Amino acid sequence: MNAQRVIGVDLGGTKILAGAIDADGAVLDRHEVRTPTGSQAELIEGIAAAIEPLADGGMAALGFGIPSVIDRATGQSLGSVNIPLEDVAIGRVMGERFGVPATVENDGNAAALAEWRLGAGQGAENMVMLTLGTGVGGGLVLGGALYRGWAELGHVVVVADGPPCQGNCTGRGHLECLASGSAADRAAEKLWGEGANAELLVGRASEGDAQALEALSDIGHLLGAAIGSFFNIFATELVVIGGGFGTAAAEFLFPEALEVAHREALLDSSRVHLRIVKAELGSDAGLIGAGLLAFETLEQ
Ligand SMILES: [Zn+2]
Repeated sequence: MNAQRVIGVDLGGTKILAGAIDADGAVLDRHEVRTPTGSQAELIEGIAAAIEPLADGGMAALGFGIPSVIDRATGQSLGSVNIPLEDVAIGRVMGERFGVPATVENDGNAAALAEWRLGAGQGAENMVMLTLGTGVGGGLVLGGALYRGWAELGHVVVVADGPPCQGNCTGRGHLECLASGSAADRAAEKLWGEGANAELLVGRASEGDAQALEALSDIGHLLGAAIGSFFNIFATELVVIGGGFGTAAAEFLFPEALEVAHREALLDSSRVHLRIVKAELGSDAGLIGAGLLAFETLEQ
């Protein structure tokens, strides 16, 4: 066994990213497989297949970031939107299979931990991370520690009785359906018809297209309303925005978001400096965070 090396796994709806991580959070080696979504049994084999090539190099523990609500007492996944993972403690199953300690955390929380320790969130006492991709994921650092609990920040109401949310969510006007990459896809389709997407929207905004700039500013506006509300609950003075859409559209979203967040937040702006910054670790954040959590199991 190699105590200097663990394996972090980021379980996504389309791919499973596994990485060998050292104690400093550096990715030493990586392996990726497509996510099998036919059944839970296939999914579990897919996760094992992502880990196996890296396990040969030794590992002291396993950490998983999964897109699920997790029962904190049992480590069981209580259901996932995009993958067949329900009522299974994936940490325990994989820990027994590979013979090492294992831990599991929500993927948004894992990514937030990585950005806080090693990326854009370093030094923050209270931080919120929002990942704007297909959906909106999130995680919180509160009082200088990762909040290891329920943090479905994408499903806060931004527009009461607004448009229906995405996937299995029955809510309306949630941040996820208003500020995700999917929301940007819909905004692009509204402007330019079927086939237009978030990438085109950001591309045209970069060229100075007024309609594209306005559409992204509108998304930033709603994002800022949510950020102001998070500040009022958690005093999260630093907001890290990640995800494919979030990072690509940062320069078009952040100015409006910051203005609205300041309007909504109960802060004395002469004393509290609310900042919105771009995530730095890209698509590695989830697996690095899962690896950092694996190291924590060794300390316990
Ligand atoms: Zn929702």
